Amino acid sequence: MNASVAVSGNASLVVLGEILHFTGDPSQDGSAATHHHADGALLIRDGRIVAAGDASTVMPLADPGTQIADHRGMLILPGFVDTHVHYSQTDIITSYGEQLLDWLERFTFPAERAFADPAHAAEVAEFFLDELLKNGTTTAAVFTTVHPESTDAFFAAASKRNLRMAAGKVLMDRNCPEFLRDTAESGYEQSAQLIERWHNKGRLSYAVTPRFAPTSTERQLELAGRLLEEHPGVLLQSHVAENQGEVAWVAELFPWARSYLDVYDRYGMLRKGAVFAHCIHLDDADRRRMAATGAAMSFCATSNLFLGSGLFDLHAARAAGVEVGIGTDVGGGTAFSMLRTLNESYKVTQLRGHRLPALQGFYLITLGGARALGLDGHIGNFEPGKEADFVVLDPESSPLRARRNRLAKSFDERLFLAMMLSDDRAVHATYVMGEPKWGQVRFADAVAT
Ligand SMILES: [Zn+2]
Repeated sequence: MNASVAVSGNASLVVLGEILHFTGDPSQDGSAATHHHADGALLIRDGRIVAAGDASTVMPLADPGTQIADHRGMLILPGFVDTHVHYSQTDIITSYGEQLLDWLERFTFPAERAFADPAHAAEVAEFFLDELLKNGTTTAAVFTTVHPESTDAFFAAASKRNLRMAAGKVLMDRNCPEFLRDTAESGYEQSAQLIERWHNKGRLSYAVTPRFAPTSTERQLELAGRLLEEHPGVLLQSHVAENQGEVAWVAELFPWARSYLDVYDRYGMLRKGAVFAHCIHLDDADRRRMAATGAAMSFCATSNLFLGSGLFDLHAARAAGVEVGIGTDVGGGTAFSMLRTLNESYKVTQLRGHRLPALQGFYLITLGGARALGLDGHIGNFEPGKEADFVVLDPESSPLRARRNRLAKSFDERLFLAMMLSDDRAVHATYVMGEPKWGQVRFADAVAT
């Protein structure tokens, strides 16, 4: 069968395969945080996890007539969480030759201008979500553009697919082209209306989205902080300390601030449910402040390397107790694939003099990402009651990988190959709330009565 087949008329499903998920960070919480079942099964009812474990213990829990999706020979993980990405930059991925501030002027701002057109925004949103699912990503924190229409288009497309997504309208009232500029007041009003329209509608979350400190006046940052106070549970996303030129510019624009991060702190933006992309040029005082407030970092390796921004210090972040997720940061990033992003993350940690074990890597793109976005009550692992978003990975996704995989002597080694030799071809299927939304899925006979 070549096409995806929806689960129809049957709210229960058993999924067979090798299962891996986490209830903590294996690098900090030890082996008890890792749950690996070589001959495993998930039992799903009404889109939620009922049980996950060895097939021999899960199968007897299934009601007679329960359908089976047989993925034995494949690795099943919670759906990947991309903690930082711009859907509006899909069409400028891998634009040549500039670093951050010139790249924004030359490529990003002209591309974002087109999102004033709702039809363009809707078309890109559909393509973007197809790409995410094709890559096993079921949740993302998404920047739209300054236009409320672009946020409406994105949320409408995500809602139609029943995806757990966070997004927000970019706030930007200075240091950018006139055609992308809101005002402190209009940005506040439009954000409040979008929160009313979309936040907690189905699986959607609104994220207040000041692009970064240099493109907002202090008044706009103040009002962004007010939105967070007025709408508890709303997320926040922004950028911080990506590029040395940007850091120097922030020091000029906000001479009173101790650091770049301190600008956001002043306006109440450091909190649980706030995620800041990049966090490269921070000091230990910044990291301690993020840990104390619950603000999270998004490590965007392909973007940081592509734009020549610098090397994120994962070890320092986790040692300080800061939550960290992984972000693709497309269009600064060079792939929608969280697996390819993990590959580059490993190399960045090597250049920082540390390692990124595969177990920690897969923690970061599942539960770690969910925690960074404050969504771990809904997604991130296979605890009973969680939403059944998951990805099925093929260990033989390319001839080279299949050949190399046969030589692996342990699960850890196979998992490291999954992290280093994978791309979108490794994603055999992606499920959302227990339904296959991408890939080839064949349902076997129901569990015998
Ligand atoms: Zn970004």
